Amino acid sequence: MLFTRDLRVHDHPALVDAVRSSDEVVPLFVLDPALLARSPNRARLLLEGLRDLDRALRGRGGRLILRRGDVAETALRVAREAGVRRVLVTGGVSRTAVSRELRLERELRALGIELRVLPGAYAVEPGAVATSSGGAYRVFTPYYRAWLGAPRRSVLPPPRAVRVPPEIPSEPLPDPAQVRIDAEDLLRGGEEAARQRLDRFLRRGLSRYGERRDALEEGGSSRLSADLRFGFLSATEVAVRAATLPGAEAFLRQLAWRDFYAQLLRHDPRLAWRDLRPGPARPAPQLDPEVALEAWLRGRTGIPLVDAAMRQLWREGWMHNRARMVVASFLARRLAIPWQEGARLFARLLADGDPASNAGNWQWAAGTGTDPRPGRTFNPVRQARRFDPDGTYVRRYVDELADVPPPLIFAPWREPALLASRRYPAPIVPVAGA
Ligand SMILES: Cc1cc2nc3c(=O)[nH]c(=O)nc-3n(C[C@H](O)[C@H](O)[C@H](O)COP(=O)(O)OP(=O)(O)OC[C@H]3O[C@@H](n4cnc5c(N)ncnc54)[C@H](O)[C@@H]3O)c2cc1C
Repeated sequence: MLFTRDLRVHDHPALVDAVRSSDEVVPLFVLDPALLARSPNRARLLLEGLRDLDRALRGRGGRLILRRGDVAETALRVAREAGVRRVLVTGGVSRTAVSRELRLERELRALGIELRVLPGAYAVEPGAVATSSGGAYRVFTPYYRAWLGAPRRSVLPPPRAVRVPPEIPSEPLPDPAQVRIDAEDLLRGGEEAARQRLDRFLRRGLSRYGERRDALEEGGSSRLSADLRFGFLSATEVAVRAATLPGAEAFLRQLAWRDFYAQLLRHDPRLAWRDLRPGPARPAPQLDPEVALEAWLRGRTGIPLVDAAMRQLWREGWMHNRARMVVASFLARRLAIPWQEGARLFARLLADGDPASNAGNWQWAAGTGTDPRPGRTFNPVRQARRFDPDGTYVRRYVDELADVPPPLIFAPWREPALLASRRYPAPIVPVAGA
């Protein structure tokens, strides 16, 4: 059983299949140092997740086998070493996952070993619903209609016992604290913390999710994105449990966005970095793009909502969805910087960083993707007035403005003396709507 982005024991089709079809299972995770280096925040969560998974397997009489190296190559080596008959893996959608599956398929077959790719990462798997011509959906609304009607597999209980051959050695699990991170308030990774978050959200958050999800200061969304990203939670379980409760509709719709972008990336891996369709003409930049990008990244644009959002990203490795739309639109449209630059920095910092959702949303915001209104932009001042009317969100993250009340907090440049006394920058570009 090769674990990748499915670091859990609950509702795990591949693990259940492995345990059912064989007396002994090798639960393998391969740490690829190249992948680990991409994002310290995610590396921390991953290592916490591996600890949890090992604990959960030990609770069932097994243990996690950890190796380092290239994933496919190492998995092939362990498969030979252990003399297995089949390798199970949860299907992925990124270029890395798909090429890994193809390589494993080919090279395992040459050894007379079967590769079984099972569902488990999505509520509705890519390809489970398709357009009348058999392709991926490029527009969300018809996809969502099909998604709602798609058959759901049933949620699987965790296996009672996992027997692991005693002679297969494992490297020691690395200490998550070894990964140095900038984020002070990164959530804790692993299945146990994820299940607590899910229970809490279903009990307390879901019923008001529809009305609160957009309010920047309230924390009305589930915060389950990283748990879904690493597979600490199964999207099927999340969807099935939510569906029985009041207020589920708005939440299921967001889960469907995740599957929507996954089926698009599965269909065309170039989506991760290349425009899905030509975007609106980009205006000439008013600033040196390098200076503008640095100000954006550091939360020093002088536009309070943009700065609060980027500082939230640094502090928590997470950003509110509406704030993501605002900063993405600001970068791609107002600063005229290619969306790929923003996506690259998001991919480094986000605990939930995921090629399908990240690129899909960036393209949506830049007007090069799936938005049926590609001309749509977000004005950061109007967005702040509407979704952070008391300025609480901005004050939480922008210390310089911690005691500035509305309406001044939406446009502090109106009082130049205030900017000077707080050492808060003037806006790097003029902002309409103030
Ligand atoms: C520019 C930009 C980049 C983004 N990059 C990522 C990314 O790398 N990884 C990621 O998981 N999400 C990304 N999102 C989508 C969204 O912002 C996050 O999923 C959401 O904020 C996570 O918080 P939550 O779990 O509280 O969401 P909730 O509102 O509670 O939603 C529940 C779940 O639905 C899914 N979801 C919600 N909104 C979206 C969406 N627009 N697209 C895809 N899935 C969604 C997530 O898995 C989320 O956990 C991005 C959005 C934008 C605008």
